[in-house]
Amino acid sequence: MFEPKEMLVPTSLWSSRGLKGIHNLARSEPASMGPAVYRLYVVEIDDPRGHVPYSFYVGHTKQEVEDRVQEHQEGGLRSARIFKREGVSPGSIRYDLFDGLPRYRCKACAENAEGRLARVIEAQAGRAKSDMTDNRKKGAVRPCEGRVASEGATG
Ligand SMILES: [Zn+2]
Repeated sequence: MFEPKEMLVPTSLWSSRGLKGIHNLARSEPASMGPAVYRLYVVEIDDPRGHVPYSFYVGHTKQEVEDRVQEHQEGGLRSARIFKREGVSPGSIRYDLFDGLPRYRCKACAENAEGRLARVIEAQAGRAKSDMTDNRKKGAVRPCEGRVASEGATG
């Protein structure tokens, strides 16, 4: 089967080191870890009264993106904190900012990629919110779970 060498770039972004890192991360996950189930997504932040300094929310999910965004919309337990603020809700899903990006086999890589995508979007499209770029989680990027397992096996 023909495999394109060039990475897929979402239509509203341009090729960058950050995007290459997002693709390389997926490529370096061992196939033995099973199917790549985590996908990234981007949704606009609908904030007519300007409560938050962000235009986009970047996340990752095992669910269908539309279902995950619906959970944010409902504002329940699984809604991101930013969407629990009064007057702040998810807007349009921005496929043009994530379609073509790879999926991940483990949560650690999905989190890592999410933070990278948030930084790419900040550089190319506008202010982006991700749990992975919060102060709380800065520097808390975990290595691929498959890599941890194989290193553990050799000591
Ligand atoms: Zn991984």
